[in-house]
Amino acid sequence: MDAVVWLEEVGKNDLSVVGGKGASLGEMINIGVPVPGGFAVTAQAFRDFINRAGIAKKLFEALKVDVNQESELHRAEEAAKKLIMEAKVPEDIEKAIKSRYEELCKREGKQVFVAVRSSATAEDLPDASFAGQQETFLNMRGAEDVFNAVRKCWASLYGARAIFYRVEQGFEHDKVNLSAIVQKMVDSEKSGVMFSSQPSTGEPLVVIEGAWGLGESVVSGSVSPDNFVVDRKTRNIVSKYIAAKEIMIIRDPKTQKTVTIKVPAEKREAIVLTDNEAIELAKYAEILEKHYGIPQDIEWGVEKNKIYILQSRPITTINNGKKPAQAAASGKVLFTGLGAAPGVATGFVRIIASGRELDKVKPGDIMVTKMTMPDMVPGMKRAGAIVTDEGGMACHAAIVSRELGCPAVVGTKKATSLLKDDMEVTVDGGKGIVYEGRVALAAPAKTASAASGGGVVFTKPMTATEIKVNVSEPDRAAAAADTMADGVGLLRIEHMILGLGKTPNWYIKNGKSEEYIGELVKGIKVVADAFYPRPVWVRTLDAPTDEFRAMEGGEGEPHEHNPMLGWRGIRRDLTETDHFRLEIRAFKKLHEMGLTNVGIMLPMVQHVREFQKAKAIMVDEDLDLEKIDVGIMVETPGAALTIEDFIEDGIDFVSFGTNDLTQYTLAVDRNNENVAGLYSELHPAILKLIEYVVERCNEAGVKTSICGQAGSYPEMAKRLVEIGITSISANIDAVATVRETVARSERILMLNALRNRK
Ligand code: PEP
Ligand code: MG
Repeated sequence: MDAVVWLEEVGKNDLSVVGGKGASLGEMINIGVPVPGGFAVTAQAFRDFINRAGIAKKLFEALKVDVNQESELHRAEEAAKKLIMEAKVPEDIEKAIKSRYEELCKREGKQVFVAVRSSATAEDLPDASFAGQQETFLNMRGAEDVFNAVRKCWASLYGARAIFYRVEQGFEHDKVNLSAIVQKMVDSEKSGVMFSSQPSTGEPLVVIEGAWGLGESVVSGSVSPDNFVVDRKTRNIVSKYIAAKEIMIIRDPKTQKTVTIKVPAEKREAIVLTDNEAIELAKYAEILEKHYGIPQDIEWGVEKNKIYILQSRPITTINNGKKPAQAAASGKVLFTGLGAAPGVATGFVRIIASGRELDKVKPGDIMVTKMTMPDMVPGMKRAGAIVTDEGGMACHAAIVSRELGCPAVVGTKKATSLLKDDMEVTVDGGKGIVYEGRVALAAPAKTASAASGGGVVFTKPMTATEIKVNVSEPDRAAAAADTMADGVGLLRIEHMILGLGKTPNWYIKNGKSEEYIGELVKGIKVVADAFYPRPVWVRTLDAPTDEFRAMEGGEGEPHEHNPMLGWRGIRRDLTETDHFRLEIRAFKKLHEMGLTNVGIMLPMVQHVREFQKAKAIMVDEDLDLEKIDVGIMVETPGAALTIEDFIEDGIDFVSFGTNDLTQYTLAVDRNNENVAGLYSELHPAILKLIEYVVERCNEAGVKTSICGQAGSYPEMAKRLVEIGITSISANIDAVATVRETVARSERILMLNALRNRK
């Protein structure tokens, strides 16, 4: 066996030679799919290297450790990698790699940039998948660099995570080899993903998502892509949706590093694909699905008008070697929980213990965890669905999932103990049910609202009550703006800040206050820009102490008996004024930048004194209170029942935080699944508090709004219109439904008034 082979020389029967990735690329080339050219350094070449270099015995000895001991595991990693990186590679192997790269350059007519990827394979189980366990090296150029990258791929076979995974899965280290795939880099001007069949219903429709630049922006979910649906039978384009594409990832021509830039204005709302390109892509999707016999999830790119297919894998299974089971018409219910974000998804379970394990979650996987934390958001963006042990309808997982449009079941109590990695399950996020295996559930009929984030253009009924939207992730600003909402009724900044991995205090203590202000400005600006001149009410930081503790700088956070009743929101800001001042400076900067639509909303207020103190600090920081709207969240009965005091003190608006108002009025911890059944925002006591506040505010001309989850419920929206609220802020996926409900409720009120006049 040669040390290197061209990709077109291998196919699906060569798993033991070039691993799953290499075999799949070779196979695609052989069935006429345009894959970027390249070669593979075979698994045998790797084995040959360790044998002839005389390091095999030492290597496998070094790996005999207790992988559950972090320190032992890392020692094994270090020792093994050192052996691989320092041993002499036999000259013939080195020469074969380097000269094959030179030949590739000759074929392409220039010194090409290549990606060097790992493709691992097990001798006794060649189709075992080790996807994501080893490393990839992008933008390599020149024979020496390519050779070094191959060696680094080999070494990555002994990364801590890979060693741990193999032991857990029962693979013997000395039976696992690695082929390195060296492939020309595609500098895509546009790229994306496509599904060869409609991913939730399995209909013969090719769904294509595309955006400008390299594919990472679409794969990671950081851009709202254009969406095309092509009928596989007729080859007609049946729907097209053009999104506002805010950012793109490109390769910096100088440094060759990938960088994220703003999409130039003229391309932002320009359609990414021509009809012919969409139809040609659909043709390849069809070829691939036919060839593999199951629907495929495909990555593609277009460089200089030429389409490339970069990867193809079964929908949701992602090279894990398992075939999705046939869909059963009715499935066995494994357990139930609270249906926190609607939608249905089937996929393979990935149990996540902490944010550090997020790599395990590949697009379409079912992410299962005790409770999501803000540092898990990148994984949540990739997940097909989210299932948690803990939490109620207003917990972090529920709020973020709804915003991301990702089905979620929370508060199951037992998901992490009943489910195991790689199990295939179907999650119904509307009904709160987790089924065994692949179950054919009818996807809920898409309303205009459901489509608003991902697709169909809809007409917008005019309402007197303003309809706003809640945002927590700047990445979702474009999708939120696509709802045509009248503004942002709540911009939560917690996720932005907790996502930095360091507490605000860390920045202050390390003399990096300006950097912190910069981060705040950067995140808020994305949303304020997307909505300008429509108002964006930004809430000051409201994170409970338990969420800070895991972050750098959070070591000294107090252990509170009940963080929900503890040191959060305005209470914290008024005792840690250093931090509050930084927030105020960020607001000031945003206004100086012309973003006069930014308003400030204070959370957890319970006495007018708190509002007065906050205002005094704002004045001290030279914030012009005449020019900036400052309001409070009404989320404690204390604030609701003394609202007159706040009105007298000059609040510009109030917004009902019903997630908290409910827990504090009914004494039901919103994160406690054991009492979730008692949690109801429609409890008469809550409605009475809301009514009381709205009446007082209407008398005084103060705006009222709601930004708790209940604002997304049609029944609540109807009651709020009757009560006379000024605006309702809903989740992205609920905006259109709420708007329709409000329009109808307003008409009923008018009609009744007319009828009563007669
Ligand atoms: C609320 O309490 O209703 C609210 C919107 O704030 P959060 O959910 O962030 O506490
Ligand atoms: Mg709240």
